[in-house]
Amino acid sequence: MSFRALVLTLFPEMFPGPLGQSLAGRALARGDWSLDAIDIRGFATDKHRSVDDTPFGGGPGMVMRPDVVDAAVAEALARGPDLPLIVFTPRGKLLTQKRVRALAEGPGAILLCGRYEGIDERVIAHRRMEELSIGDYVLSGGEPAAMVLLDAAVRLLPGVMGAAESGIEESFASGLLEYPHYTRPAVWQERAVPEVLAGGNHAAIAAWRRAEAERITRDRRPDLWTAYRALAEAAPTA
Ligand code: SAM
Repeated sequence: MSFRALVLTLFPEMFPGPLGQSLAGRALARGDWSLDAIDIRGFATDKHRSVDDTPFGGGPGMVMRPDVVDAAVAEALARGPDLPLIVFTPRGKLLTQKRVRALAEGPGAILLCGRYEGIDERVIAHRRMEELSIGDYVLSGGEPAAMVLLDAAVRLLPGVMGAAESGIEESFASGLLEYPHYTRPAVWQERAVPEVLAGGNHAAIAAWRRAEAERITRDRRPDLWTAYRALAEAAPTA
């Protein structure tokens, strides 16, 4: 069975969007994964097809109704009963490469995209949804977050990436950010490629890359650096 994505959205026409291009698009065409966008509005029951209402307690904006969202979730679960149920929200747990990798190794996911002020809390609790955020900023809807998650997961599916090792060496895979890359010309704008990379000494190249990855992580992401150091100290031979 290939990886299945069921996206619950008020804007199904946004999909596949960028996911229909390049690596993910080719994998989609090959059938390495499948994508179905389910229109939440199709589960509205009143004559205006309303999906939202004003918030209890007052305040600005509208809230997505639990009954409508739940009916859409029920439809997605009927189509993919084995799929984990994820809702996107800025207050969710931060999406990490570790979570992406775990999802890519599974059967797929149901991805619920919020709009307006968000989704009625009761349906999130009732369905025990996993709440995920893609960063500390506010989008106007969960659709770009679903695209981010799917783009990150699909490239890890077997056979999707060109060079198998590119998934092993890249940022976060080892707990470090990636080392810098260079290609021809060897000198550009009076900037030369680091000598060691042209020398052909594979051990020296590996050591240089490791040192650069450590330097960049230490300088740019003290949080990742602390976690990496703690792991290295716990298992010094790793
Ligand atoms: N009132 C919400 C708050 O302050 O946390 C923001 C709602 S936002 C305008 C509408 C929808 O966009 C959310 O329900 C969520 O699905 C999505 N969204 C916004 N920012 C996000 C983020 N950083 N990560 C994941 N989803 C996000």
